[in-house]
Amino acid sequence: MRISVPLAAMISGFLALSAAAVEVGFGSAEITPEVGGDADKVWIAGYGMGRSATGVHDPLFARAVVLRDPEAGGKVALVSVDLVGLQRPAVQRVRVRLPGYEHVLVSSTHNHEGPDVIGIWGPNPLRSGVGPGYIEQVIEGCVNAVRAAERGLRQATARYGVAADASLLGDSRLPVVKEDQLRALRFTGEDGEAAGLVVIWNCHPEAMGPDNRELTADFPAATIAALEAEHGCPVAYFTGTVGGLLAPPDGVIRDQGGTLLKEGDWEYMKRYGEAVAALANEAIDAGEEVELTPFRIARRAVRIPVQNKLYRAGFLGGVLDRQAYVWEGAARDGARFHKVKHALRTMAIETEVGYWQLGEVGLAAIPGEIYPELVTGDFQDPADAGADFPDAPLEPTVVSLMPTERWGLIGLAADEVGYIIPRRQWDREPPYAYGRGKAQYGELNSCGPETASILLEALATAVAEARR
Ligand SMILES: [Zn+2]
Repeated sequence: MRISVPLAAMISGFLALSAAAVEVGFGSAEITPEVGGDADKVWIAGYGMGRSATGVHDPLFARAVVLRDPEAGGKVALVSVDLVGLQRPAVQRVRVRLPGYEHVLVSSTHNHEGPDVIGIWGPNPLRSGVGPGYIEQVIEGCVNAVRAAERGLRQATARYGVAADASLLGDSRLPVVKEDQLRALRFTGEDGEAAGLVVIWNCHPEAMGPDNRELTADFPAATIAALEAEHGCPVAYFTGTVGGLLAPPDGVIRDQGGTLLKEGDWEYMKRYGEAVAALANEAIDAGEEVELTPFRIARRAVRIPVQNKLYRAGFLGGVLDRQAYVWEGAARDGARFHKVKHALRTMAIETEVGYWQLGEVGLAAIPGEIYPELVTGDFQDPADAGADFPDAPLEPTVVSLMPTERWGLIGLAADEVGYIIPRRQWDREPPYAYGRGKAQYGELNSCGPETASILLEALATAVAEARR
């Protein structure tokens, strides 16, 4: 034991401690729509259209994490909503309501058991499934969650950890490639108590399947409940890489008696969510202390062409209520798309890609469902000759663009533009890859084969801009 510590060492030790700290606050607000009574029907998003809600199994939330750099003073907010995919115009309206924040990100969990917020799950192809006033309710909920998190700001240190389990993911599309890393941040307050957890996992919230008609946040609700009970602190769950197509697994989750459980069963949803919570605990146990300041964040707005005929029909028919542009390249200029005048031109939507460097941890903010290959680089090589562009050059991968050793990816970040597919895997025209008689599922919910390269180039630019 050292008896006397030189004053200089004491001071530098104190400074080192305060430099490692960040201020963090967690907050949430309920965003469950009203079901039954005099309320309009609530159309559930995520599978086929025309699925109306009969009740509420568990409430839907907006959950916010606010971070403040005590030295530089900047404030940022990350919000997760239990929805299929909040669109960027709504996210921009949340930002307008939160002056004083340098950056606000709203990401959807991609919940397949919550209300439609895009429009394509209504009673028929000509009627939007978005309930009147519901987007306002969600915006209000996001703002209230951030305000609640801000009120709870406190000094904390953070640990970042990773744990992997491929058995907790099913992949229903060939080639089988999984992003099986769960990433977690655990905050500890000055009193030594847990101040909050952030969990990022890569799985479609669709444990309850296409026949359920009670609103639920799906398995993330069970993951959050288990972790909140164990750690005694708030938990925010974010969805990461879910393209290609990562979903809860078959043949893995069992009840207490050992009987195999299946999609569409509340017990399956609960047990799967708890298995994800157990993986999060492994990540937390393996975690190491990290600095989360300074913040270096950049966003790039880009346009992507919408070559998908269904999306285009939805826009022309009015169920997709979103500003569109005439496609003139990914740069931001270009005319607004007028339905009559431009009906024969390629339309484009504007979206954004972000890079959030929080001290030693880099986060890619990707506005949709990115395929795991584009994240990890595990491309099938050579591509299947039956694909439409088997010789297309490979896109840059997220892992190759991340400048920090510790990183993460938030999917459906600030937008949901659908699947982000490697061009080499694009397969709409016969002959089909893997000798199949028809195309695999995926392209039907993608803007087009250019999406991936445009978004990953934008990520590269955002990384460079944030670190300039
Ligand atoms: Zn999806």
